[in-house]
This record gives sequence, structure tokens and C-alpha cells, in this order.
Amino acid sequence: MGDMARTREGISPQVAPFAIQTGQYAAQMILASYNLARVPPPFVYRNPGSMVVLGRYDAVCHFPWKNVMCRGAGAWILWLGLHLAKILGPRIRLLALADWGQDYLFRSATMEIIRSFQTSDIAQNIGEFEEWPKDPK
Ligand SMILES: Cc1cc2nc3c(=O)[nH]c(=O)nc-3n(C[C@H](O)[C@H](O)[C@H](O)COP(=O)(O)OP(=O)(O)OC[C@H]3O[C@@H](n4cnc5c(N)ncnc54)[C@H](O)[C@@H]3O)c2cc1C
Repeated sequence: MGDMARTREGISPQVAPFAIQTGQYAAQMILASYNLARVPPPFVYRNPGSMVVLGRYDAVCHFPWKNVMCRGAGAWILWLGLHLAKILGPRIRLLALADWGQDYLFRSATMEIIRSFQTSDIAQNIGEFEEWPKDPK
């Protein structure tokens, strides 16, 4: 299940929706093994879409089932709202909001790294990685 799952197709998507759906499927299988529910049909992952924050007030959202892709402040608000809605329990939701608020106020968010890098920085870092000693295996 979740991040540890491996299917015939290979490694599964290491995202929260996949972990939730496989967890629910496993629960159904356990109930079925005690004759408390019907054996479910083979597991099929339903991809709800992807969202990524690019920086302050900027994100990209892609919903393949609607063939919709959006970017900018609207996508960022959507990301924020959906992630907050999905967090279990008001206490953790409030803590997450305070944490993100602090990151945005003090510009300490890790995601800002994406924006702070210049192409030349990345090229330089790739160069540094290539100089690392090779794996003896
Ligand atoms: C920084 C970061 C950002 C992410 N952002 C997103 C995102 O925006 N959207 C998204 O969809 N996904 C995101 N993910 C991926 C998502 O968090 C994972 O895909 C999801 O949490 C996997 O769930 P899981 O239940 O398989 O594993 P986990 O959530 O890792 O849960 C495994 C649990 O098992 C516990 N455990 C481990 N070993 C033992 C043991 N021996 N005994 C008892 N307990 C044990 C661990 O402490 C942990 O609580 C992110 C991941 C990271 C690291």
C-alpha cells in the first residue's frame, strides 16, 4: 500500500491519493476476508490530478479527468484550499495554516528554492554532482 506498493506495472505513484485509495482497498479486502463485505474488483488507481506550488501565489494544477490545466494565483488558492480541506482534524489544519503563514510571511518556504535558482546555478550544481566519487557497485 501507499509509498511501499509495487504493482506489475512497476513502482506506483508516491502521492497521498494513491496511499488513501490503496488503504481503503486493503480495508475492503480485510472486511471481505471476514465475510463482512463483498470482494472488491481489482484495484484501479483514480488519479484526481496534480498540483504543485512554484512560489509565492503561484502554482500549477492539472486535472486530467477534466482536461483542465491552470496556473497562477488562482491555482495557488486552489492548492491551498484543497490541501487544507484534506487535512484531518481542525487542530492539525490550524497548525498547518500557521506553519504555511509563517513560511509566507518570513519567506522561509522550501519551495522558494525553485524560484531562487538561476539556470547557471543548476548547471553548476550538476557539475558538482558529477564530480562525486562513483558508486563502487
Ligand atoms: C516533503 C513531502 C511533501 C509531499 N507532498 C505531497 C503532496 O503535496 N501531495 C501528495 O499527494 N503527496 C505528497 N507527498 C507524498 C505523500 O506524503 C506520500 O505519498 C504519502 O504520505 C504516503 O503514505 P503512506 O501511508 O504510504 O506512507 P507514510 O505517510 O510515510 O506513512 C507511513 C507511516 O508508517 C510509520 N512507520 C514506518 N516504519 C514503521 C514501523 N517499523 N513501525 C510502525 N510504524 C512505522 C511512519 O512513521 C509513518 O507514520 C509528499 C511527501 C513528502 C516527503
